[in-house]
Amino acid sequence: MPHDILLLPGDGIGHEVMLEAEAIIAFLNETGLADVRTERDLAGGTAYDAIGAPMSDATMAKALRCGTVLFGAVGGDQWDHVPYALRPEVAFMRLRKEMDLFANLRPAICPPALAGASSLKAELVEGLDVMIVRELTGGVYFGEPKEIVTLENGRRRAVDTQCYDEDEIERIARVAFDLAGKRQGRLASVEKSNVMKSGLLWRQTVTRMGREDYAGVDLRHLLADNCAMQLVRMPKQFDVILADNLFGDMLSDVAAMAAGSLGMLPSASLGVRDAAGRLPALYEPVHGSAPDIAGKGIANPIAMIGSLAMLLRHSLEREDLAAALERAVSQVLDQGLRTGDIAPQGHVGVVGTRVMGSAILDAFRGACERL
Ligand code: NAD
Repeated sequence: MPHDILLLPGDGIGHEVMLEAEAIIAFLNETGLADVRTERDLAGGTAYDAIGAPMSDATMAKALRCGTVLFGAVGGDQWDHVPYALRPEVAFMRLRKEMDLFANLRPAICPPALAGASSLKAELVEGLDVMIVRELTGGVYFGEPKEIVTLENGRRRAVDTQCYDEDEIERIARVAFDLAGKRQGRLASVEKSNVMKSGLLWRQTVTRMGREDYAGVDLRHLLADNCAMQLVRMPKQFDVILADNLFGDMLSDVAAMAAGSLGMLPSASLGVRDAAGRLPALYEPVHGSAPDIAGKGIANPIAMIGSLAMLLRHSLEREDLAAALERAVSQVLDQGLRTGDIAPQGHVGVVGTRVMGSAILDAFRGACERL
């Protein structure tokens, strides 16, 4: 039975980088390496222009039915005037919420060929491969009360609530422990248990799970501020980092700097597997719609292709294809091919989206022959 994938290119460069992912999917189907059925639909500003909303209920229903979404990017200045509830970004907020995508996976990888493009010293990031697992649906971004109130003295007070149930901690920790078990077997759990009750429950819960269920994983705990410092001091010490919504948001951006460009960073957001074994999941590059370069054919497609590799790994459970696609990206970078965002100053022969995408597809074709 084919695996259904809903493609939502979105706005701006979302369209351009999605075309490269579609070419790879077409190759997988043609060669019989995978059986994937795709459907394209509108999301973001493009959807707003067509139907007056960033995503239709019918598209949302399709996403829930397919279970697997490959997303481009949404947004752009031309929709700045749109009412808040109809803004392009509402499309992915709605997908995350209605698909209950609680686990955000953001790899920070620095292939040796790109070590010079990072703002950190090359020897610190060369070969870096860290996975940040961020809790995505709870914590201080969603906790109630969340309000600005006026006090008796006329001054205002803002309140956000950091709140985690044990069940919420357990389900995200399980994702992180399982991933660590499949990688180098090391997990760093991050919180502020010294000053926050939610951090204390986080540490107690993760410690218990490590002892009872994951004795094979080397678990350590770090305070979030120390983790941020360690990420820029010695990032290669980490394998998997587990954090709540707020700390994960910040730490994944810190780690991202190691990779040198937004155009390199894929992500996956995973939900709860249902009784039939189906995993609701959304895969997307970390970058936005990049209005400054949209339509010029110069966007780096690697973040999108990396997101497709994550889809092959987690939704199709084809580690062989995922690893081959990631190897193809490394091979092309080793050969010196560079889009503008990852090219050193004065680099001769900077290529555009199509050339980079086709080169990766060619390398992937070769890698697949050896599978
Ligand atoms: P952005 O990620 O779109 O761009 C930031 C900078 O990085 C730009 O200079 C851009 O040219 C460059 N860049 C990004 N992706 C690139 C790629 N693949 N190749 C080469 N260069 C790349 O962030 P922004 O400019 O802050 O936001 C633009 C729009 O995107 C806004 O409307 C914002 O709300 C939206 N946005 C959407 C998402 C999403 O859909 N998930 C994420 C972030 C921002």
